[in-house]
Amino acid sequence: MKLTTFFGPDESYRLGVVDGEDVVDMTHCVERQAPLGLVSPMRALLAMTDSPATFLGDLDGERLPLSSVRLAPIVPDPAKIIAAPVNYRAHQAEMQEDYHIDALGIFLKATSSVMGSGGTVRLPYSDRRFDQEGELALVIGRTASHVSADDALGYVAGYTMLLDMTMRGGEDRSTRKSFDGFTPVGPYLVTPDEAGAPDDMRLQTWVNDVLRQDADVSDLIWDVPRLVEYASSVMTLRPGDILTTGTPAGIGQVFDGDRIAVEVTHLGRLEVAVSSDGAVSCPTRGAQRGPKPPEEVTPVRAR
Ligand code: MN
Repeated sequence: MKLTTFFGPDESYRLGVVDGEDVVDMTHCVERQAPLGLVSPMRALLAMTDSPATFLGDLDGERLPLSSVRLAPIVPDPAKIIAAPVNYRAHQAEMQEDYHIDALGIFLKATSSVMGSGGTVRLPYSDRRFDQEGELALVIGRTASHVSADDALGYVAGYTMLLDMTMRGGEDRSTRKSFDGFTPVGPYLVTPDEAGAPDDMRLQTWVNDVLRQDADVSDLIWDVPRLVEYASSVMTLRPGDILTTGTPAGIGQVFDGDRIAVEVTHLGRLEVAVSSDGAVSCPTRGAQRGPKPPEEVTPVRAR
């Protein structure tokens, strides 16, 4: 099943199920059970059930052409966004990093940075470098604390794509990756039965139709079960939390007017635009510090 969140005519969040070329508005199923407003219908759904397909039942809501709706972040109000820093060896090499996730652990992005597919990433500063990081992400479906890798996949509600937009430099990661709009996520939350195993997924990222990232998710240093195990040993994971797995090699600078797209096997296509409208000079001085990203983007050849 492909779940999504889209904007209603009044800008409210609507819960959708994607059915072919249509999206079916199933918000009423959640509204019946819990007053909305404090949490989004997607987060309410994930909190109420481990089995969205059973819970939602027949797709009896209003049917709209998918192309006619504006997508919101799949979870507009996650309690947290947990991210893996260096989790592919080829990305570690391109960044000339001495360490990877088993020394670095995890970090958090501001939840206010989420954005839906089709939105525009606004670069805040005119004098800093900003890069795209295409990533496989998962959404937590059940409260998880100190779960084992063997049990971890039972806590995953589904998979999606995420762009971990990043300012390069020496400021703290939580600053460099938390600007509004710096976490495009979606377009769908694809349940595990339909998404398949992460180890069978391939991730690709394009900038202006040039392929920059092309990786097998099986190359993750810490795979999805290990990530959930570790993250849940640090902090309690709750329904709707987003966990993003890290970016493979091929990160590169993006500029005003660029278009970024990410695809992962069975998960659809996440697309955003980039704009530097309103960019100002950066008030912090970290530009010359931090890991050194590659100067030139080397487009990869499709396999
Ligand atoms: Mn990242």
